[in-house]
Amino acid sequence: MLDYDYPLYRPPSEAGSLIFQVTLGCSFNKCSYCDMYRTKEYRERPWDEIRMEIDMASRHMPDARRIFLADGDALNLSTERLVQILDHIRDRFHNIERISCYAMPKNILEKSPEDLARLRDAGLGMFYIGIETGSDIILKKITKGATSQTIIKACQKAKDARYTISCMVILGLGGKTYSSQHIEETAKILSTTAPHYVGALTLHLDGSIREEFLTKFREPFVQIDDADALNELELLVSRMQPATPVVFRANHGSNAYPIGGTFPQEKDAMLQKISYLREHPEMCRPSGFRGF
Ligand code: SF4
Repeated sequence: MLDYDYPLYRPPSEAGSLIFQVTLGCSFNKCSYCDMYRTKEYRERPWDEIRMEIDMASRHMPDARRIFLADGDALNLSTERLVQILDHIRDRFHNIERISCYAMPKNILEKSPEDLARLRDAGLGMFYIGIETGSDIILKKITKGATSQTIIKACQKAKDARYTISCMVILGLGGKTYSSQHIEETAKILSTTAPHYVGALTLHLDGSIREEFLTKFREPFVQIDDADALNELELLVSRMQPATPVVFRANHGSNAYPIGGTFPQEKDAMLQKISYLREHPEMCRPSGFRGF
């Protein structure tokens, strides 16, 4: 129905959502492990195109409940433009329950509390934030363009403005060398920020991004194996102590072993499941069936 500019990405939990591409590509596009938008030049789509797509989609799917604003960081748009888009969406769709987008820490920090409140009132309710790691050393090596402190500030600012935040972290991002540091610091940042949702993925380096990642890492990188990934998962879950409930999912298609549960009540159950999986390596997802 809509004439998408591919490649098109959305979080797994937005599988059933209607997607509007309000920006194309990623305004940053430098994270060394991410090739999602390397083939696209970042640009903001003209209002007339966006309006026409919203109008067209509202005729075909008038009952849409969830909408995801793509591509990589729709929050980079000006507050005025976003409010215009959100108002038009709410004018055309009358059963909307959730409007969400990806957001970099930088995007959130660049908005004033008033901007965030305006956007929240206009219907934007959820941000997907790639934390990836809490380790400043690794954040630098992966050229994330963020530090642990800016990530914490951004998450807190979004929560203060009543947004639901869903954060991604990546197992194996520090390789074997930085494995424990990566997980200890990631557990700290997740405990401090207590996102409403956390998704743990596993690092996969394919194609040209592999070369870029290894070059930017600036020292030999030894990839973790499936047993290491399970150890990272165990350390992460055991160290996390968020003050408010966190729904934790490590069931992404990139992971060797899927687990999930809600902190704090299911923390012990998750640890037991990890122990069980360690004794049953046959439950490991075959590597050919994994994707990032
Ligand atoms: S991880 Fe996010 S911010 Fe980084 S390059 Fe990819 S889309 Fe852009």
